[in-house]
Amino acid sequence: MTDDTFIEGPLYEKRRKVYPQSVHGPFRRIKWTILCVTLGVYYFLPFLRWNRGPGLPDQAVLIDLPHRRFYFFFIELWPQEVYYFTGLLIIAAMMLFLMNAVAGRIWCGYMCPQTVWTDLFYAVERWVEGDRRERIQGDKHYWSFDHLRKVALKHFLWIMIAWWTGGAWVLYFSDAPTLVKDLATFQAPYTAYLWIGILTGTTYLFAGHAREQTCIYMCPWPRIQAALTDEWALNVTYRRDRGEPRMSVKKAEAARLHGEPAGDCVDCHQCINVCPTGVDIRHGIQLGCIQCGLCIDACDNVMREIGRPSGLIGYDTDINMQRRREGKAPIYRIIRPRTLIYAVAIALVGGIMLYTLATRGTMDVNVLHERNPLFVQLSDGGVRNDYTVRLLNKGAQRSFLLEVSGLPGATVRVAGVTAGSGDKPIIEVGQDQTREIRMSVQLEPGRVPRAAVDIGIRITDVASGETASARDHFVPAD
Ligand code: SF4
Ligand code: SF4
Repeated sequence: MTDDTFIEGPLYEKRRKVYPQSVHGPFRRIKWTILCVTLGVYYFLPFLRWNRGPGLPDQAVLIDLPHRRFYFFFIELWPQEVYYFTGLLIIAAMMLFLMNAVAGRIWCGYMCPQTVWTDLFYAVERWVEGDRRERIQGDKHYWSFDHLRKVALKHFLWIMIAWWTGGAWVLYFSDAPTLVKDLATFQAPYTAYLWIGILTGTTYLFAGHAREQTCIYMCPWPRIQAALTDEWALNVTYRRDRGEPRMSVKKAEAARLHGEPAGDCVDCHQCINVCPTGVDIRHGIQLGCIQCGLCIDACDNVMREIGRPSGLIGYDTDINMQRRREGKAPIYRIIRPRTLIYAVAIALVGGIMLYTLATRGTMDVNVLHERNPLFVQLSDGGVRNDYTVRLLNKGAQRSFLLEVSGLPGATVRVAGVTAGSGDKPIIEVGQDQTREIRMSVQLEPGRVPRAAVDIGIRITDVASGETASARDHFVPAD
């Protein structure tokens, strides 16, 4: 091992508190818009109603754990359809990869819940304690009455937001207006209070205190993202070729008058001051940079004030940084094999999910052969096999005709069911319910096969004729 394999500098560095300054500009406006839309959806979606007919919940988005259903507007998913969530997870991962291939950590900078809530908590802090300068001054006189009053108000507002964040989460698991009433009158289940408490605590901790440390030290995505990105991805970049050598406005003007090189960067530190993670983007792309674009707004404002062209900091690619050093014009390639593969994967999985959703039936049947005993030898020489059959009815209450095929002459009986004939019982299943029955299939002595045979179990909706089927087998005696 040589000396240069050692990392220079301390292995532990005390956190330097970040005091992001407010900034105006297009990227800030985009962030405000996304914040309002995402939080608006999260906080108010549970109150949106959706009429599904009598006997069914009218909440547009509901995770109904007691009845094991997930409702999303016109879609109702059963536990057997959990593969749709797998599909959603695949699409979410591919979207993340696609965003990364197009514009680096754009998810981190604009849409990640940690970013959105931290941004909101910063807005509250700024509103109560003032902008960067006032907050720094306030922390220097921490124990003054005025500052303590502001700090107390800030924490109170943070806890209120965190509490409402936890409260909104539990509303997705029960009828929202009813649960709000129950929570207010202390009649809600204790698990609701427990989850509100947990989420209040985590929101307050992560958005109010951990802030940028969550992105830098805790989140795995920056590490994964760094391995997935390429030289064509757009990243927030300082144009070194334009900015250096950096100097004050006066010195730059004088240098230019004398024909000496002068960069556009006036070393005003505005890009660092507005950064929510305290990064100096002029040192290049760093793990701490969440690609939020606020330093672009800050620098463009400075450039406008000093009469220089905007874009000293901007979204750009590694390829273009290289090309600029070589005096070549920048090129952009959003559509390339990597982005196409991700887009096709999203379209494919999304298409399959939409197709299966559009064509799925409103009924189903599952069959499980009795294992102990596999068969029952009857005293007259006949043989009986027993099965557990589960009928799924995703529609209104209806009657199903149960048939067994592949066993001529078989007698089919269902415990507790008398409707229907001896080989075709009729079973009632309530609206949006499943019903488990015990089915016996019996053969007379002369009809018993020598070896196990495959059989089909089919249910038919008596009213509509819609069918669903499953397969199992009939085991004769040894
Ligand atoms: S805001 Fe622009 S001009 Fe000011 S220090 Fe940053 S890069 Fe330089
Ligand atoms: S360096 Fe710029 S883009 Fe990166 S986190 Fe800071 S403000 Fe956002």
